[in-house]
Amino acid sequence: MKKITIAIDGFSSCGKSTMAKDLAKKIGYVYVDTGAMYRSVTLFAMQNNLFSKDGSVKTTELEKRMKDIQISFVFNNETGRPDTYLNGELVEKEIRTLEVSSHVSNIATIPFVREAMVAQQQRMGKDKGLVMDGRDIGTTVFPEAELKIFVTASPEVRAKRRFDELNEKGMPADFDDIFENVKERDYIDSHREVSPLRKANDAIELDNSNMTIAEQSEWLMQKFTDACKKIQ
Ligand code: C5P
Repeated sequence: MKKITIAIDGFSSCGKSTMAKDLAKKIGYVYVDTGAMYRSVTLFAMQNNLFSKDGSVKTTELEKRMKDIQISFVFNNETGRPDTYLNGELVEKEIRTLEVSSHVSNIATIPFVREAMVAQQQRMGKDKGLVMDGRDIGTTVFPEAELKIFVTASPEVRAKRRFDELNEKGMPADFDDIFENVKERDYIDSHREVSPLRKANDAIELDNSNMTIAEQSEWLMQKFTDACKKIQ
């Protein structure tokens, strides 16, 4: 069967990665979490003093250091999901902290950062057979993707999901802080100049506020089956 490209975009913490990962596993495709890539650049910037005291990014210095940032994914057999590595070091936990979340959207507005990430993402997807999630996959990275999904859910539901996820991982955080962060990232992500978050014209919209994980997995599987039928 011919392989396709699947682009899953949407707002922060709306369950994109859960559904993308599960689908990739079921259909034997590669899964790429592009948020993890922007988070890794953010972690690198935090570790290398590339943020000013007011939270703004030292862009000239970061641009010089971009060549020192290598991001890779290694499939973890135990979790059945890929782990993120920054310059050879496992950073899966470090990139999910609220501190990284509160800096990442500023990093993701920088054009040279986006250019480097998009180029790497396009290389990863050149042979198709992948599920990629992010904000600009259906609009910029793979505008020709055969299946595009745009996921939304209310900010309250999304903040609750992130809160539960962090708690489960033993990284407790304050619900109000998470809620504010979700709303702030929504705003920055959808108002930036380069590749703002928006639904591609040919994307299928899914509001999963009132859906269980099983229901949304089933819904996505059906969309995948339909998309494959179209191209055979
Ligand atoms: O998906 P996740 O919430 O981990 O993404 C973290 C941040 O990375 C987003 O809030 C957004 O600022 C940025 N991002 C992006 N483009 C993508 C993926 C993520 O700008 N394709």
